[in-house]
Amino acid sequence: MSYTSRLTKAIIDLDALVKNYQYIASLSSNSNTIAVIKADAYGHNASKVAQALSTEVNILAVAFIDEALALRADGINTKVLVLEGPLKETDIELALDNNFALMLHSDYQLGWLKSISPEFSGDIWLKVDTGMNRLGFQVEQVDHVMSQLSAVQISNLVLCSHYATADQIDCIRPSKQLEKLKALVAKYGCKFSMANSAGILNWPESHGHYNRLGLALYGASPIGKSPKTRALIPAMTLQANIIAIHTVKIGESVGYGNNWQAQRDTMLATVAIGYADGYPRNAKSGTPVYINGALAPLVGRVSMDMITVDITDLIHTKIGDTVELWGKNLNIDIVAQNSDTINYELLTRVSKRVPKTFV
Ligand code: PLP
Repeated sequence: MSYTSRLTKAIIDLDALVKNYQYIASLSSNSNTIAVIKADAYGHNASKVAQALSTEVNILAVAFIDEALALRADGINTKVLVLEGPLKETDIELALDNNFALMLHSDYQLGWLKSISPEFSGDIWLKVDTGMNRLGFQVEQVDHVMSQLSAVQISNLVLCSHYATADQIDCIRPSKQLEKLKALVAKYGCKFSMANSAGILNWPESHGHYNRLGLALYGASPIGKSPKTRALIPAMTLQANIIAIHTVKIGESVGYGNNWQAQRDTMLATVAIGYADGYPRNAKSGTPVYINGALAPLVGRVSMDMITVDITDLIHTKIGDTVELWGKNLNIDIVAQNSDTINYELLTRVSKRVPKTFV
């Protein structure tokens, strides 16, 4: 790695990732559990994650062709499913040449397949819209789609859909979505895939030939606190160090906008991480960070390169000490809740200027 004067880094525990994969795969042992490594493996480095999982996983999934090609450029030879992202006609040939399975969602894409038939002989996933109303063939269209595809040689045809509310266990919508997909599966006798992480955890009846495991692979929970997610190990620990310590008097304010005022004489630590690193700018005062075995609250606004933390009660804290923003000692969900966002967004937004180290 090139020289850096900052100690800010994301530590990626690849062994934790493998254990998370094995644990989640064991919950649906009759399914092929696909590792979803789009968005640079949710911020963990897609090629490193793919390598770490190479003996466990036989299909990886990414969002679009560029992400799939980047894996090939890094020497990853595992089959790659390109999820429902943007596709161009020329991607069909790229998919054939590179052993990518494509997820198709619209009529215009079927035309491309037919135009290169009979050379085409790849894997096709058909995305059916069962209720997310974002992408996919309507249920009523599937007859027509199947007849269009009868002219195309497909080595493996999978019907798939995506849950809108799999994290909500009391909700009726996941069952309705699954019912629609299963009716089509019964009619056409195809393989199917419905479950994402929350589907695998909350809806065992949704376990299909293929499940698509994203968030839980990285040790974060899509369903909040649950006995089922206790075994997950956070794969990313985001940390920075204290670069200054000083005291402010009661009544003084801190940082941009003066939106926090000291209620007592307060010892402040300035920590070298900010929103340009991916720490959320809207983290509220009071959001905890972890220092030397204890929690301390963020105070004032998050700046581009730094944050300030009240360490009045942590008397042994000194310049240079490591601060964990989330990870093994501080659940990322707590930071997400204090920032009006979700763990997915925090993980995927750790920026390029934060070096990653792999353990
Ligand atoms: N399948 C599709 C089509 C997705 O878009 C995603 C992620 O957004 C996943 C699976 C993985 O979802 P999760 O990270 O909730 O497991």
